[in-house]
Amino acid sequence: MPDPLERKDELSATLDLVTTAARAFLEELDEAPVRDPRADDVVDAFTGRLPESGDGAVAALQELLEQLPAATRSAGPRFFHFVIGGGTPAALGADWLTSALDQNNGIWIASPLGARLEQVALAWLLDLFDLPAGWGGVLTTGATMANFSAVAAARHWAGEQHGLDIERDGLAGMPAVPIFTSGYFHASAEKAVAMAGLGTGNVHRLVSDAAGRLDLAELDRSLKALGGKPAIVWATAGGVDNGDFDPIDAMADLAAEHGAWLQVDGAFGLFARSSPALAPLGRGIERAQSVIADGHKWLNVPYDCGFAFVHDARYLHAAFGGSAPYLPAGTETHPSYAFLGPEMSRRARSLAVWATLRAYGRDGYRALVERHCALARRVAEQVERAPELELLAPAVLNVVCFRAHPEGVRDPAELDRVNRELGEAVVADGRILFGTTLYEGKVAFRPAISNWRTTEADADLIVSVTRELLAR
Ligand SMILES: *Cc1c(COP(=O)(O)O)cnc(C)c1O
Repeated sequence: MPDPLERKDELSATLDLVTTAARAFLEELDEAPVRDPRADDVVDAFTGRLPESGDGAVAALQELLEQLPAATRSAGPRFFHFVIGGGTPAALGADWLTSALDQNNGIWIASPLGARLEQVALAWLLDLFDLPAGWGGVLTTGATMANFSAVAAARHWAGEQHGLDIERDGLAGMPAVPIFTSGYFHASAEKAVAMAGLGTGNVHRLVSDAAGRLDLAELDRSLKALGGKPAIVWATAGGVDNGDFDPIDAMADLAAEHGAWLQVDGAFGLFARSSPALAPLGRGIERAQSVIADGHKWLNVPYDCGFAFVHDARYLHAAFGGSAPYLPAGTETHPSYAFLGPEMSRRARSLAVWATLRAYGRDGYRALVERHCALARRVAEQVERAPELELLAPAVLNVVCFRAHPEGVRDPAELDRVNRELGEAVVADGRILFGTTLYEGKVAFRPAISNWRTTEADADLIVSVTRELLAR
């Protein structure tokens, strides 16, 4: 009977098997195609019924490893779709260890190691982003849950303004809380607002142009019209299509003037503040009430990881606090993160975050972020020099928004069709990978550079492969 207890002696062989396979996978990451065109068929190998009687760990892992070609090489240097980082060696090592140690990083006494490293890692992140020490924070599964954590904190604050304790009273007696934002508002932010029960119908995109830039005068008018009732001003640091920033400093002025809560979604854009040269983009974030970012994007720790900061930790405690006789809520010095974020039992993501910051430090991250932004500018220049390509937005950060615009093609629908097909050809080709979006109503590409492995040679493929495929 293959009870795991009886097959305990397989553990060492299983780890060896996986180490060998992982090393081989990682060694070819720089060169191999980003995506195996047969991946969709390969994964069909996983089928059949639940085994009545298993045949142990080595056999199971061997079956899994046989289908490894189906794994997307999104951890490699030429995956430019979405905004996806890889795992630095330090982060990957610590992440492996995290699974082996299998800590429950919710309650201090369950894992002093994980909780202490979370405290230290959060403080180091605040330092890296030049944000006030002493803000409350929590690691999450990603920016979506970090946005949710920030909204939950803001929701509690808004309740207080109306004389309610939202966690106790619920939302039924609460007037709508308007959320003012730009066209850069992320799909996951909308999801966070929906999960928090604030209603996506209360999100107002105050847009001044086709790119979605904020209409500041309209924000001022909208806040004035509320006459001091609580509102959330939602800024995006790093829009996904063009890497652009909302005018956060001016939004912070208006939020302060009208007593609104300023939330900043800096899923990847917050990292601009780790570079003196790029920091002006994110000026004003230090005046926000809440700020979030991803770990699995530009920090280059493995999935999944994000973090939320709230200027006053009291709001995180209010939104997520609690305890039970057997679950101590923690103290200031020995916090239990189960009561500062949405999850109770939680992975010790802190090991990977701490390890990568410890390994590469402020200088390492500044170099990485500045290199990626320089690569984006380089690609943007190549686009501008290519007669059949058109740059649609300046590369202010690490995203290059462009499209094909062959001579003689003027009809907008025809241009969209050409670009859609070209986008599909890029994915099918597999040397690089990026996706299409709609920018100012046009089908466009938006490769994002955020992997620690990416070099000039990798980035140069964006334009050369695009041109080659277009010529066909
Ligand atoms: C990626 C991203 C998110 C969502 O992040 P997840 O980690 O996928 O949850 C939110 N906001 C912005 C601006 C993003 O780029």
